[in-house]
Amino acid sequence: MQETSISWCDMTWNPVHGCSKISPGCKNCYAEEISLESGHTDNPWTKKHEAENVSEKPHKVNEPHKEDNPRRIFVNSMSDLFHSEVSETFIRKVFRTIRNTPRHTYPILTKRPERAISIDIQYPPNAWVGTSVESKTQSNRIDTLSQCDADIRFVSFEPLIGSVGKIDLTDIDWVIVGGENTTDEKRREMDHSWARNIKHQAERDDTNYYFKQSSGRYPETGSKLKTINKETMEYEKRTIQETPTPNKAVQNARANTDATNQSSLKNF
Ligand code: SF4
Repeated sequence: MQETSISWCDMTWNPVHGCSKISPGCKNCYAEEISLESGHTDNPWTKKHEAENVSEKPHKVNEPHKEDNPRRIFVNSMSDLFHSEVSETFIRKVFRTIRNTPRHTYPILTKRPERAISIDIQYPPNAWVGTSVESKTQSNRIDTLSQCDADIRFVSFEPLIGSVGKIDLTDIDWVIVGGENTTDEKRREMDHSWARNIKHQAERDDTNYYFKQSSGRYPETGSKLKTINKETMEYEKRTIQETPTPNKAVQNARANTDATNQSSLKNF
């Protein structure tokens, strides 16, 4: 596992490596770039090469047990756990680790929510299942995810490359919004009105909203979003980074771990 600069989690854990591109949001996939550069995969992440590019990493399955402090751990930042090349047996092993480390919370992000709901799995309360939606064309993934039995369901609108239009977030606990985070040459620009549209709908449906970053072009840059201040009715730039509250079982597990850590420090 590794510490990460991804602002909505603390660490990444990659029990699977590799993937294949499935929709326009994948065009500038950072995971593919890193993997090819470092020689972990040899061929582009296309459907044609998916069997050779996607690999299960059994030696990594138990890594979260070694981390004593409660952390928010992004599962498979370099892959998609619900890719068809990942066996159901292996997915169950990943969930066994998640279940057996209740002090951690685990955001799992997929572009294949239909597989997340078709596998017969009892999702542990610390597994947060999310899907990526880059524009209106993929908004049906939200409806699919809404059928998932996870305690926390979330949607990552990153890279936001088009308006998502009208969406239903009633069954979604958390949304993350971000412009494409890549070089100037590759970046597809985000119109901030798309991000504000999602903000309004998140407010309406009582869903936590996390604005991660602009796509980096003047005048709206960084992690502040220009929104209306309802008292002054003026636009102002502000950081809006809400996160969902873990359920009681997870909160208790975290509190117990903190107490154990404190007492071992005292005894040291
Ligand atoms: S689903 Fe994610 S990891 Fe897979 S190719 Fe697309 S962007 Fe990359």
